[in-house]
Parts: sequence; structure tokens; C-alpha cells
Amino acid sequence: MSKFREESEFRAENTSPYSLLPFNFLKLNSGKYRVVTLAGDYTELDLVDLRALVDGELVAGSDLYLDLRSKGFIFDSLSKNNIALTSIKLRTKMAHVFHLTSLHMFVISLRCDHSCPYCQVSRQNIDSNDVFDMTESTADKALDVVFSSPSKYIKIEFQGGEPLLNFDLLKYIVRRAHKLNENYKRNLDFVIATNLAMISEEILEFCKQFGINISTSLDGPKALHNGNRPRPGKNSYEKTIKGINLCRDYLGREKVSALMTTSPNSLLQFREIVDEYLAQGFEGVFLRPLSPYGYAVKTKWAESYSIEEWLEEYKKVLYYILDINMSGHPFIEFYTALVAKRILKPSYTGYVDLQHPTGAGFSAFLYNYDGKVYSSDEGRMLAEMGDKSLCIGDLKQDSFLDLICSDQLKAQVGESFGYTSSSCEQCAYLPYCGSEPTRHHVLQGDFMGNKIYSPFCKRQMGVIGHVFELLENDSYRRILEAWAYDST
Ligand code: SF4
Repeated sequence: MSKFREESEFRAENTSPYSLLPFNFLKLNSGKYRVVTLAGDYTELDLVDLRALVDGELVAGSDLYLDLRSKGFIFDSLSKNNIALTSIKLRTKMAHVFHLTSLHMFVISLRCDHSCPYCQVSRQNIDSNDVFDMTESTADKALDVVFSSPSKYIKIEFQGGEPLLNFDLLKYIVRRAHKLNENYKRNLDFVIATNLAMISEEILEFCKQFGINISTSLDGPKALHNGNRPRPGKNSYEKTIKGINLCRDYLGREKVSALMTTSPNSLLQFREIVDEYLAQGFEGVFLRPLSPYGYAVKTKWAESYSIEEWLEEYKKVLYYILDINMSGHPFIEFYTALVAKRILKPSYTGYVDLQHPTGAGFSAFLYNYDGKVYSSDEGRMLAEMGDKSLCIGDLKQDSFLDLICSDQLKAQVGESFGYTSSSCEQCAYLPYCGSEPTRHHVLQGDFMGNKIYSPFCKRQMGVIGHVFELLENDSYRRILEAWAYDST
């Protein structure tokens, strides 16, 4: 006879036919609750149903029971694989941590002919001496690191300053990367982030030969763009538009993209900006708020509008963009598309700001002109402001393994994991959200940040909540589904 009573006698009585899987919820203005599983499946419940769900009082076999079971809120004896399904979905949503490191940004010159007040980099004058240019020997070491990454996909992005001011080195890197790749056999891609003022047929011949993509800055109509992006001759807009058309002629329309930044002057001109992107034949626009780095801090532009003001204008122009789509002209707002993808698709996004733990380092390395390596573009911007805490190593002595295992990167990754953040772990929007550790480090002194005071969190809450509202409208839903499934 057993000396002890059976283990089952010590269990709390459980008459419910189901068990709960993890979920968070958020009260909506309507009084209902948006309830979201760990893996991002969602529903809306009123308080009575939410209470019944939590208290184990759902009626087995009812429509609500079956819906919540199929979405992974609960499991019962017939659906025990919901546990495994949740973990598979979660792993897929966070798959960026398994795909080390595909984006490699080379800052090949800090020199620039523009003097934009929102510049996030400590650009140098065009005729500064070449101490602000990367050397071949530094580039060689960077390429050794690039090809030590296990990623099948390698994208090398040339940045500055203005990278075309060091075009000889750019050519050297492209040719050497191709040579090395004969051995490594990765899917190799190149992008030049350029203001296009220096673009020429000779440069484009080279880009054509190696299939190089062009990414440029277009802030909106002529007066706005030239106001935001001063250069000698006050003709940045004219040069950009001429450059875009030349690039398209040589490389094809799909090889040229543009980004805008929301200066204080842009905020009330979102509609005009959208019209400019339409007029120039782009398939969409990315409405980016300013970041608190570099010249944007010195000029105080970074604090010239609040995230609430940005959100108000963003929502207004998003309706304008949706109307354009409904009139039969497809046109995307790319950030909304990324968020819609996070909500609607079980896949992960390569967009670093929508990843937690941070995609910095996992997804991207930045090699500065002086050989210092950062886990993100923002890291080097911060270093130029005197804060070196995001520098993860130096090409003089560090290998890929040293960089990816550096204490600086571990700190960013550890503190940007939403499920261990007291602010985020109970948030219904966590499966769709990101982390932005650099911004929290700058504004609040640690990588995790207190999200109650975080502009990033306010933006995420605003955008994700707005996308959910739009999804309730059938016409908007169809457009957002197309953006999520086709374009990002
Ligand atoms: S940052 Fe804000 S919106 Fe995002 S998961 Fe954390 S609390 Fe939620």
C-alpha cells in the first residue's frame, strides 16, 4: 500500500473542460476588450465573455468556445496541439534571431555636400581631407566580417555622409565582394543610399553592371525639399528628381526607392508629400518621424513636434492614401504595411524597429569609416555625439564572433526582449511591436525604457490601434491585406 496519497488529490479542483493559453488584453473605447494571444491571433470580447473565458466558464462546443479554441486562446483534450502550434507561431514571429546577420552598412565617407538640419550623422564638409573616408584596408576587414556571417542573404548598403564622394572605394568593395562570393556563394545585393547630387552616367554604368539598387531622399515638393535639404546652389530637389529619372532610365524603375523624413515643416504637408511621391511615380511613401540623434538634436528639430502631433497628421493622411487606393491607384504607406503584416501574417519582418529582441546586430552591422562597428545606424550617430556605448567592436581586432557576442550587443538584446520588460509583457500589442533600445537609451538612460514615458511606445500604440480600427472596415481591410501580403 502507498505511503502517500495520490498526486491528483493535491491538485486544485478543475471542472473546466479547457485550459488557457497565454494572452493579453486591452480595453477599447467601445468598452470591449481586444484580446491577443502570445502568437498574435486576436479577437474582441465583451467583459462577460472575457470573464467567462478566464474563469473557465465557456460553454464547451459553443461558437465562442470553438472560435477561441481555433485561435489558440484555449486548448482541450481534442486540441492539445494548440500548445505546440503556439510555440511554432511564436518562433516564426521572432525568426529574425535565427537569421544572423544579413544587412551590412558601410559608411565609406562622412563627407557630404548637403547640410540638412535634421541630419542624424556628424557629416563633414565635402572638401574635408580624406580622414573621414574609409580605406581599402578597413573595407577588407569589414568584408571578412561580412562573409563570416552565416546568413544566406547578404545586403551591403553604402552610406555616408554621401557615399558617392568615395566612389573608388565603393567600386573596390563591390568587386571584392563579388570575388569573395565566388567562394561563399551567398545571395548578394547592394544598395547605395545617396542624395543623387553626384550621380553620373559613369556611376550608373557601374551600378547596372553589378545590379546595384539606389535609395535616395525625397522630402516632398520642391520648396519643402530644398528647405529641408540645403546644399550649395539651393537645388537639391532639382538634382534629386533629375537623378531619380536618370537612375530609372539606366537601372529600371524597381531599382530606385526614396525615403522622406518628417521635419517640422513637413508635418502639415503630408498630403503634398504624398502627391509628390505619386507625381514622381513611386509605389508608396514611408512617413518617418525624426529621430533624436545628430544634427536633429543640435538644431532642436528633434523636439519640434510631439509624437501625438505626428500621429494626428499620420492618421489624416492615411485616410487620404486609402482613398487613393479605393479610386483604383495602388499606393502604399510602408510603415502601416509593415504593421499590418505583423498583425495579419504569421511571418517575421526584416524591419529592425519592429523586432524584439532588437534586430540590431542580429539583422544588421554598421562598419564606420574609421573601423568601429555598431549594431545599428543609430549607434554610430550616438557615438558621433560622444556616447560610445553602442559600439560593439573594432575591425582592427574583432571577428564576426567577437562582435555578435560582445557585451554591448548582449546588453541591447537582453534589455529589448518584450517578454521580460515590465512595461511590455502585459501589452496586447507586444506580438506586433518592436523595441528601439537606442532611442530608449538616449531618452531614458537604459535600453529597455519605461514605456509610459516612451514616444516610441506612444507611436506604436497609436499606429497599431489605428490599423486595428481600419481592419474593421471591409474596404480598408482589403487594401491593408494587399499591402501586408503583396508588398512587404
Ligand atoms: S512598446 Fe508599448 S506598444 Fe509596444 S509592446 Fe511595449 S508597451 Fe506595447
